[in-house]
Amino acid sequence: MNSLATTIALASGNQGKLREMRELLAPHQLEGVSQGSLGIDDVPETGTTFIENALIKARHAALESGLPAIADDSGLVVDILGGAPGIHSARYAGVGASDKDNLELLLESLSEYSPAQRSAHFRCTMVFLRHHEDPSPLITEGVWDGIITREPKGENGFGYDPIFFVPTHHCTSAELDPETKNQLSHRGTALRGLIEKLLLLDD
Ligand code: IMP
Repeated sequence: MNSLATTIALASGNQGKLREMRELLAPHQLEGVSQGSLGIDDVPETGTTFIENALIKARHAALESGLPAIADDSGLVVDILGGAPGIHSARYAGVGASDKDNLELLLESLSEYSPAQRSAHFRCTMVFLRHHEDPSPLITEGVWDGIITREPKGENGFGYDPIFFVPTHHCTSAELDPETKNQLSHRGTALRGLIEKLLLLDD
């Protein structure tokens, strides 16, 4: 991508994600604009994998905006639950469930398990499309390992952050400042990888 500022549609309605993505794009003269601010609605996530859902979201945003688009699909994967909530993380407690509903259901599902059995990771697949028919999407992934706590702690972040204990930092993800979370997180890793690829595009 050349050195001129480039506007990219961000295919998410999640304010937490949008904030994290904009912060990482800005230093590279890449301006992320949310699809909501462009009048674009969410598209149903009908895929069965992170990559399918990320592509569906990016294609929809690129088609509706006429801009290049970035989408991520992410979720929390809990080993002892066979990978749940996974791609259903945003709606674990049902369609329209709040972050609090989802988090409480997860704590309940894990109530009988010891800390050693509560290993989990966040996973993020990130996609960039130059336009809605781009046959060669740029795709990256990020993974962040942690342990699910017994009760929420911390005020930052969103989603499952208050119950995602980060062993390297001895606190939950919601207790990390946003910059530190971006350095460590699945989304930060995936987006930094994507930006590297983007910057190489016109070289
Ligand atoms: P998506 O918008 O379909 O990708 O759903 C992602 C869901 O996964 C979010 O609504 C959260 O429930 C969860 N999630 C993904 N990334 C994070 C994170 O960084 N912190 C906390 N929860 C997350």
